Order: sequence, then structure tokens, then C-alpha cells
Amino acid sequence: MTIAILSALPEEQGDLVQALEAPERVEHASRTFWRGRLSGHDVVLALCGIGKVAAATTATSLAERFGARRMVFTGVAGGVGEGVQVGDVVVAAEYVQHDMDASPIFPRWEVPGYGGPRMDCDAHLTAILMRAASAYLERVGGQFDQYLPAPHAPRLHQGLIASGDQFVSTAGASQRLRGDLLAAGHNVLAVEMEGAAVLQVCRDYGLPFAAVRTISDRADDSAHVDFPRFVEQVARRYADGVVRELLALL
Ligand code: SAH
Repeated sequence: MTIAILSALPEEQGDLVQALEAPERVEHASRTFWRGRLSGHDVVLALCGIGKVAAATTATSLAERFGARRMVFTGVAGGVGEGVQVGDVVVAAEYVQHDMDASPIFPRWEVPGYGGPRMDCDAHLTAILMRAASAYLERVGGQFDQYLPAPHAPRLHQGLIASGDQFVSTAGASQRLRGDLLAAGHNVLAVEMEGAAVLQVCRDYGLPFAAVRTISDRADDSAHVDFPRFVEQVARRYADGVVRELLALL
């Protein structure tokens, strides 16, 4: 049963490609995919690039061409929820597309045809991903303190993540996004640009989906400063560690 591991950026893929047994590189739909074995599982690693459409075409390829039967996204995100700090990890329970607005025909944020603004990740796969992330963070402890704006033992959160085609990098944009959604009862912990699109494709194909995001910035005015350094120094190793823990548990 092939497991697809998707990321937007090469750093988010960690060193998983190098760790593959019997690696096979496949160019398809303007993307590079790597097939192989990892921790006893058939896997396909994919880089989707940034944004919802790029993520959706990649997920579709994984389902149609690569026979993926489960998908896991590993990447970084901006923390918008209270107490969701740089260096923490958020596992998605649900997703919302914060830039979807077909009102007044449909309620704001509702994806037409999908019955509501929020979509659930797969409960079983998500529970295993939580265990994997928790085990990894326990092992890591304060190892990355030097890269964190506020050194602290990294925390694990589970909840709602918002995706949209926007890098949220001002305090105003971040507060608006969180505030508007919160007023409608949607408590967003983190914001990124791909997860909800992959989830929607997985729902169309009836495939389990789970996502883990390392918080790389607070989606505020310092977002552009924190981002590159953090992704290079920390996110890469988190991705590696959490995915390996996950594969060992599956
Ligand atoms: N500086 C990067 C661009 C990163 S875009 C470059 O030059 O390539 C941000 C990526 O990280 C997206 O894939 C998105 O999913 C995630 N992300 C991290 N922080 C984010 C934020 N504050 N807002 C939106 N997406 C964010």
C-alpha cells in the first residue's frame, strides 16, 4: 500500500530522498517524484511547489499515476493561534480554505459542493501522526533553541489549519484572518498554502490524508525575516524525524 509524502519546498522534504532504498526518480506533470522503500513501506515522495493548485495537481498525480493509497503532508506554516510558537508542531485535525468566498451564493469559506467550510483529515492516520510527532519532539527537547526567537520546549498542537494562496506576513493580515474565522466559530491554529487542496483531492478519491506542519513564523511582520533561516536549519530535520517516526508506527 503506497504512502505518498508531499512537501511544498525541498527543505520540507528533509533528507528523505537520500534515505530511500531502491530509489527511482520519475518526472511527471512538471514535477519530480521519487519512488522507493522507506522503513519497510512503499513510498512516493513528491514536491508540489507552493500554492493550492500546484498542490492539487500533484496530489491528483499521486492518486492516478503513482497508486498512492494514503497521503501525508509535511511542511512549515505560520502560527496564528494563541500560544502556537515558532518551533512548535501543529498536526491538522481539519482544514479550511481561508480565501474561498463564493458568498452570497454559498456561505463564506464553504467549498461549493463539499457541504461546509471545514474538511476533516483522516482520524486514524492523524492519531498515528500525533504519536509520531509527540515521540519526535520528546526526543528533540531543546536541541533547536538557538534558532527559536523564544527558546522553549517545542509544543505539539492539534486542530484547524487554514490554507490559501497568500503568504501571510503582516500582523494586520494575520489578525484579520484569524479574527474573521474565529468570529464564525473557526479557531485557526496555523496558516499555510497547500494542505486544504491536498485534503480536497484525497476526499474526491476516498484516500486518507494527514498533515503535520512545523511553525516557521508567526505570520506577522517578522515572517519574512524568520522564514528562510528557520526552514533551512530546523524544518528539514523535523520533517525527517517525524516522517521516520510515523513510518515506524504504520
Ligand atoms: N520564501 C519562500 C517562499 C515560501 S512561501 C521561497 O522563496 O521559496 C511559504 C511556504 O511555507 C508555503 O509553502 C506555505 O505553505 C508555508 N508557510 C509558512 N509560513 C507561512 C505563512 N506565514 N503564510 C502562508 N504560508 C506559509
